[in-house]
Amino acid sequence: MDNDEPSSSTSFLASSKKKSHVKYLIEELPTIEHMKKRRPDLYNNWLCPNCESQQETFSHVWLCSSVSHVMNQIITASKQDIVRLIIEKVTALHPGRVSSLPSTILDQHSVWSLIHSADEFTFLDLIKGFVPKEFSLAVGIYINNPNDLKSLIVTFLDNLHVRIRDQIWSPRCELIIEKEKTLNITTRQKKRKNSSSIQNNSNTVFISSDSTLACHNLGFIDYIQTGRNWLDFTRNVSHCFLSNLVCYIVTLKIYFFSVTFLFSFNVSLVFR
Ligand SMILES: [Zn+2]
Repeated sequence: MDNDEPSSSTSFLASSKKKSHVKYLIEELPTIEHMKKRRPDLYNNWLCPNCESQQETFSHVWLCSSVSHVMNQIITASKQDIVRLIIEKVTALHPGRVSSLPSTILDQHSVWSLIHSADEFTFLDLIKGFVPKEFSLAVGIYINNPNDLKSLIVTFLDNLHVRIRDQIWSPRCELIIEKEKTLNITTRQKKRKNSSSIQNNSNTVFISSDSTLACHNLGFIDYIQTGRNWLDFTRNVSHCFLSNLVCYIVTLKIYFFSVTFLFSFNVSLVFR
């Protein structure tokens, strides 16, 4: 999250950037639809593991009717969490003001809506790490210091991400792993290259098609677990790319050095 955006922006991340950032996030989360692109030979006819009736896209993971009761609990817990965090902070800074805090603070904001919307910030955007400016301004009424406000919102997002990981994503991954076992899809198979899949897609920041791995520490889940700005992950990927490039150059140098050495050696033998 970035607090240093110009005041004209509509969120912590400028809305003009939102589209492309969301695109990256959607590509990164290893949903079934994503896995199909990587390995159509293994996951071709697979559907959402929870409802078994719809395609599992990024949005569907959270909007699936089979998990709606859990998602509603998460939303309720998140509403209580932001109030608790504000009260704790205000109590620490200005003990006399706590009694003036309404318990329904921010209750009507669209971020609590569990829908997909192109016009409004909804709970799906919070999951992605986007916090609308109106939301942070509303919290900022009680927390004046920008650093305190930033740390409170980061803590709020961390807590939210732990909830969705533990209550939605991890159980979903368990279902996928069980189904893979049933169909004898092994880790070895998953790691094997498939010529019909979309390989070497430079836009895809997807490290492994192994859902067991992907379900634990990689990519978006890493972001969920650490609460880091997801852009940090993009930067990490760039760093990996540069590391690989350096390795590649070093390998080339060693190769040319060997060839030069052997050539010199042979020449010296011929002219001996
Ligand atoms: Zn579903």
